[in-house]
This record gives sequence, structure tokens and C-alpha cells, in this order.
Amino acid sequence: AVRTVGIRKSYGTHEVLKGIDIDVAHGEVLCILGPSGSGKSTLLRCINHLEVPDGGYAWVDGQIIGYALRGDVLQELPVHQLRQQQSQLGMVFQHFNLFSHKTVLENVIEGPVVVRRQSRDTAIAKARALLEMVGMSAREQAYPAQLSGGQKQRVAIARALAMEPRVMLFDEPTSALDPELVGEVLEVMRRLASSGTTMIVVTHEIGFAREVADRVVVMIDGEVRECGPAQSVLSDPADPRVRAFLSRFL
Ligand code: ATP
Ligand code: MG
Repeated sequence: AVRTVGIRKSYGTHEVLKGIDIDVAHGEVLCILGPSGSGKSTLLRCINHLEVPDGGYAWVDGQIIGYALRGDVLQELPVHQLRQQQSQLGMVFQHFNLFSHKTVLENVIEGPVVVRRQSRDTAIAKARALLEMVGMSAREQAYPAQLSGGQKQRVAIARALAMEPRVMLFDEPTSALDPELVGEVLEVMRRLASSGTTMIVVTHEIGFAREVADRVVVMIDGEVRECGPAQSVLSDPADPRVRAFLSRFL
């Protein structure tokens, strides 16, 4: 489960996140929608502490990301412990962030072998099962440059899953893809969702949100303007700015 309380972030005088509270239960899928610049990516980056929030906290399965309680004082975690925590949060970005000089299989086993100190054989067996799941078994010896965008993104998902993350964070994983490749990536995400993976998905794919999300959050100007079951948020939003934003997709 993931919970954020009062996450704030400013760049200079620009307040990008104005106190974000979200809640995602174990096994739930939360989709975050909102206009460009509303702070969606910044929120994901604050949750996994790629950005340090100016205020507020994120909890994942009861652990505060980036801090530890010593006595009754919160202290920043040392970097190696932060990296350990971050390795439990799977992240898939808009732009495929595979290691270009490694094969598909090497990409997927990298984290388990280097960070988790798994044996190569164990990591390879797990990686092959994950590549099977995302439909990329046949390409395990390919290099990223030899793959389509949709294939790269499916490998990126397998690579994140190889770390057995507590939650998967997706930041517009299909928005850099050619339209005909979007479906295959959404299909993998749909399968993940139905297997009970806790997911936070920033997306412009309203159809996916409607179909897969347990709950939807709409962010505008660094605030959560609407939050609730997908059906009610998408079909009957109370907030006029949310209505205006969603009407673009009709
Ligand atoms: P999009 O849908 O276009 O991806 P977003 O909702 O993900 O938008 P963010 O990327 O979180 O929006 O950015 C929110 C605001 O914060 C934007 O105005 C952006 O210019 C600003 N911003 C983001 N990162 C930085 C940074 N490192 N330094 C300065 N400003 C930043
Ligand atoms: Mg973004």
C-alpha cells in the first residue's frame, strides 16, 4: 500500500505540488490524470525520493521513504539505505531507460544480481519467466536499439518487476509510442493489474483508466482536484476545471 501525506515541492518560487494526499491500497490501481505541468511526474519522483519533497511524506507498506524514525525523531536515511528502499519501487518512464549496451536478458537480471546479490542462474530463471509474461522471450539476446518502442517498454516493465517491487510507478509509459504500439504495452499493464500488483499510473489513456483503475486522481496546478472511483470521476466529475480537462478526451 502507498500513502502520501501533504507532499509539497517548489522549484524556485513555483509551487509545483501544494500538499498532495493520496492513498493506494495493496493490490489497487490508481491512475493519475491531469494537464501538462500539473505536477504528475514530480509527484511520482517525490514518492520514490528521486526528488526530495520540501514537505510531507510517502509511506510504502508502512515504511517512510527517505527517512527512518530514531527514537521519536525522523532522520534522513543514508544513501545506501535510500537506494535499498528505492529498489523496492518499480518505475517505468515515458522514455525507455534500458541499458543500451546490454541485451534484453542482461537488462532484466542487472538489478537482481547487482543490488539483490542473487545468483546469475536464479536471476536468469526469473528474468525468463518475466520476459515470457511480457511477450519478449524470443528477443532475450537482442539489444535495445533492435527493438520497437513497445518492445522496449515491455522489457522495461519486466526489468522493474525483476526487483519484486512493492509498487509499480508508471509515468506515461505509452505516450512516446507510435499509436499502433500502445495497445501491447497497455495489455501487459492490464495483466499486471489483474495479478494484484499495486500500481500508480500517470496516463492520458482515459480508456485504460476507466477499465483498469480502481480509483482515479485528477491533478490540476499541483493539487488533487478530484479523487474517487474511476467511474464517478471520469463520468461525473464535480469540479468544473476537471470537467473542462476531461471534456478534451470526449
Ligand atoms: P506532463 O503531463 O507534461 O508530463 P506533469 O504533470 O508531469 O506534466 P511535471 O513534470 O511534474 O508536470 O512538472 C510540473 C511543473 O514543474 C512544470 O511547470 C515544470 O516545468 C516544473 N518542473 C518540473 N521539474 C522541474 C525542475 N527540475 N526544475 C524546475 N522546474 C521543474
Ligand atoms: Mg510528466
